[in-house]
Amino acid sequence: MEEYRGRRKKGYQTPTGMHDVLPQDQRYFQKIYNICENIVSFYGFQKIETPIVETAELFSKGIGLATDIVEKQMYVFRTKGGDWLALRPEGTASVVRAFIEHGMQSLPKPVKLWYFGPFFRYEHPQAGRFRQFHQFGFEAFGEKSPVMDAQIVQVFYNILKELRFDKLVVEVNNIGDSQCRPYYKKLLVSYLKYRLGGFCAVCRQRAKENPLRIFDCKEEKCQRIKAQAPQIIDHLCEECHNHFREFLEFLDELELPYNLNPYLVRGLDYYTKTVFEIFSTSTENFNSSQQDSEYPPKLYTKEDGGSAETPLKLSEEGEKGYTSKDALVGGGRYDNLCKILGGEPTPACGGAAGIERIVKAMKQRTPKLPQPQLPKVFMAQLGNLAKRKSLKLFEEFRKNRISVADSFGRDDLKAQLKASDRIGVQLTLILGQKEVLEGTIIIKDMKTGRQETVKLEKIIKEVKKRLKKA
Ligand code: AMP
Repeated sequence: MEEYRGRRKKGYQTPTGMHDVLPQDQRYFQKIYNICENIVSFYGFQKIETPIVETAELFSKGIGLATDIVEKQMYVFRTKGGDWLALRPEGTASVVRAFIEHGMQSLPKPVKLWYFGPFFRYEHPQAGRFRQFHQFGFEAFGEKSPVMDAQIVQVFYNILKELRFDKLVVEVNNIGDSQCRPYYKKLLVSYLKYRLGGFCAVCRQRAKENPLRIFDCKEEKCQRIKAQAPQIIDHLCEECHNHFREFLEFLDELELPYNLNPYLVRGLDYYTKTVFEIFSTSTENFNSSQQDSEYPPKLYTKEDGGSAETPLKLSEEGEKGYTSKDALVGGGRYDNLCKILGGEPTPACGGAAGIERIVKAMKQRTPKLPQPQLPKVFMAQLGNLAKRKSLKLFEEFRKNRISVADSFGRDDLKAQLKASDRIGVQLTLILGQKEVLEGTIIIKDMKTGRQETVKLEKIIKEVKKRLKKA
């Protein structure tokens, strides 16, 4: 068999930008999962799992050929059968594919689905940006009212609150739809035409392929030119304008703090109307270099007295105390995606949260999550016969939901008792050759050190009684 040799540092390591989720981190993942599951089921979302690989075309068609994700970050490979597949870089296109493939369009609307799993992007690895990362996300199909956009934001917000993020800000924008965006794009392109020389190389390229993306750039010289550029919210059609106004009214109703960020465009082509990102403004979640950064740029804020009806004025001092460039959550509406991917036109919206970024903030706050409850009983055995019997007994305990620690690999009684001491159990059960033959077992109270021999068939009852008493 062919050996796959590549550049390799010392020994084998995880590929660049990828990491193991070690046992101590599993608890953070599990906590996020449990909170997520609890909250989303209340809002009527059902879980879906899609394959980690999909046809590459699903993403090039769905997300857009000229996006960074498809153009630069997708892991694409050809199978032995000749198909082009891609490691999924995001969840929405896959869920839309599943929604269409399984005829969910005929289900009562809205159809609400959620997912939790790994995603892959060939990124430049840095803090909070990996090549394999995890997301949980929600997608709601069949509801065109902005009430659904607001509910999606609210579900993320509630999950983050439950995870004890206290200073959260939702950044929102509306990037128009197929009616008003083409006109705005023309305006933007003609504004950019005579100013291209002042932009960085990436923006010059973006101006040609996907002009809205110039708003994503964090280069200072680009920021200055962009500040004077026409803004989409001033050029929305009536439908998008009303959608945005109602969306903001729903957020007000829900008392979700938001900032209107006219530069928020998001990097995926499928968005229409609402886009949003959620940041934690708590400084403890950021490092100082991020606090010095220029991003997000100056924002319209609610405190400035703006609403979608009355034009907002630009906040003078720029961002109000938060400066992280790493959003915890991103999402928006994608009313055209079902049709683009071959399904019935279906309005939809959703979003995704980055689990590693959430875990990082949780760890800064709570470096160690409480240990799961350790077993209160330890089973020690001596000799082959006792080992066999212990295995069976172990199953009896499992059926009775009594968690028992063991050390089947050790034969030496002293070492086993030492192990039981280390765990700090309340009772140690000792089974030797003699006990097996007599149908008994020794039960040792670790606090008093007292030992008693009891009938093997009564051991479960006896252990239950003693654990109850303690
Ligand atoms: P997106 O799918 O780009 O809208 O991202 C949604 C969320 O996923 C972001 O707000 C991040 O929290 C997280 N995320 C996206 N890309 C990465 C990455 N490369 N590494 C870690 N987290 C990421």
